[in-house]
Amino acid sequence: MLVAVLSDIHSNLKALDAVLGSLGTVDAVWHLGDLVGYGPEPAAVVERLRQVGSIGVLGNHDDAICGGESIEGFNPDARIAAEWTRSHVDAATLAYLEALPEQVTPEGTDFTLVHGSPREPIWEYLDSRFAARENLAVLGSRYCLIGHTHVPMIFRENGGHIEAIAADPESRLELDERRAFLNPGSVGQPRDGDPTASYLILDTTAGRATWQRVAYDIGATQKAMLAAGLPSRLARRLSLGR
Ligand code: ZN
Repeated sequence: MLVAVLSDIHSNLKALDAVLGSLGTVDAVWHLGDLVGYGPEPAAVVERLRQVGSIGVLGNHDDAICGGESIEGFNPDARIAAEWTRSHVDAATLAYLEALPEQVTPEGTDFTLVHGSPREPIWEYLDSRFAARENLAVLGSRYCLIGHTHVPMIFRENGGHIEAIAADPESRLELDERRAFLNPGSVGQPRDGDPTASYLILDTTAGRATWQRVAYDIGATQKAMLAAGLPSRLARRLSLGR
C-alpha cells in the first residue's frame, strides 16, 4: 500500500494542492493534524481532505478552532489567526475538525498517527532523543507518525540508543524491526529553512519511507493572507521556511 502522509497544512490550499498534484496514484492519504490555523483557506483545505478520503488526527490549532482551551498558550500572531479562522469556517468544517480523534492506528497497519506525541497527542513537541525515548514506552505500535514541529525528522531505536536523523529531501528509510518516529515536515508552513511543501510517502509493502518536497505558489498564499487581514509576519515567514 502506498500512503501519502501530510502534516501541518495550516489552511494553505496552494501548498496542499501542489502536494496532491505531485502524488501520482496512492492508496491512502493520512494527515497528522493542524489542518487549519495561520493560513487563508481553512474550509477549502478541509473540503479537499474530505474529497480525497483522508483519515487523520486532531492538532493543537484544530483544537483551538473548536473551542479548546489551547488558544491561551498561543503567541499573539497565532491567536489572531485562530480567532480569524474561527470566524471564517462553516458548521460543516467545524464538525469535521471536532470529530478528529487524538490518535489513530489505521486497521491492519503498525503505524500510530498523532499530531504531537503518543503520551501527549496534541501538545508535545517530539523534537529530541530524550522525548523519543520516553514516548517509545507508551507507543503501542512499531512506528509512529508525528507532526507539530514542522521539521522533517526521524528518531529511531538502535540497540540501546535513539538516533536522530534529519530527513533531507529524497531521504529514504528502510522500515525494519527498529521502532521509529517519522515526521513528514509541514505542507503549509515548513520551518526547516526550505520553504517548499514537505511530505512523506510510505510504501508499507516494501517497508520504505521517502521524504519529498514540492514547490508551490508561495506568493499567491501570501497575497490571500494579507487580503484576509492575517498578520503580515505569518505571510513573510512562508518565504523563509521559518
Ligand atoms: Zn502546526
